[in-house]
Amino acid sequence: MDEIQILNGSDPAVIADACRAHSITTEEFSELQSRSAAAKATAYCPYSQFRVGATLLVDTSSSQDSTASTKYVNGANVENASYPVGTCAERVALGTAVVSGLKTFRAIAVSTDVTPPSSPCGMCRQFIREFCDFPTPIFMFDKDGNFVVMKLKELLPLSFGPDSLPSPKDLLAARADKK
Ligand SMILES: [Zn+2]
Repeated sequence: MDEIQILNGSDPAVIADACRAHSITTEEFSELQSRSAAAKATAYCPYSQFRVGATLLVDTSSSQDSTASTKYVNGANVENASYPVGTCAERVALGTAVVSGLKTFRAIAVSTDVTPPSSPCGMCRQFIREFCDFPTPIFMFDKDGNFVVMKLKELLPLSFGPDSLPSPKDLLAARADKK
């Protein structure tokens, strides 16, 4: 990410600009920043020691059930002795939210112990794509809380998502027409 500008995560003017551009409040930004950093402490990463925390900002605007009070959902990476089996923080957070009935999100934050900030891996970008709209901002925080923010459509252009998949019935019908 060398051509990408890292923004000062403690400069109120910079934060206000980023929040305005991505339709979140400065309070929500602050929660994403602190919660994703705190979530790193729950990582299980004895093999890499690379801690990742993730926080989802849940869209509570259309929720009518009791889960509407849940505004933030955290996750952290969970590794495994069989290395490829390990799971990233973003997918842990999204899985936790989805099984709690929360499926729409306004922003995602990821925090690590390094700088420049780490971005979600390819598998996580695809996983995020399932549940988030293209303008959803992904805030990537470095070890000091400084950040890069990009929209999902910038992190995963030309993506394949639920809307790309015709129904099995339509696909079968199209095949039958060609016979
Ligand atoms: Zn990942």
